Amino acid sequence: MTAQTQHTLSAFELSLAEPAPEKVEVALKRGAACPLCASGTLDYNGVLELECPRCGFKSGSGGGCT
Ligand SMILES: [Zn+2]
Repeated sequence: MTAQTQHTLSAFELSLAEPAPEKVEVALKRGAACPLCASGTLDYNGVLELECPRCGFKSGSGGGCT
């Protein structure tokens, strides 16, 4: 009775089980359409953040959430 049901996943198998997440982030750049309202145009504000003048979207580089 050999019960070898235990299966340890190798790193290779783990990499297969976990598909690489596709990059969904849109490359934000000056002059690009706002990803939020899609009608504004991103431009740099005073602190070198891309900002949408229409909806106020900001591409916070630091990602600081308050
Ligand atoms: Zn916007």
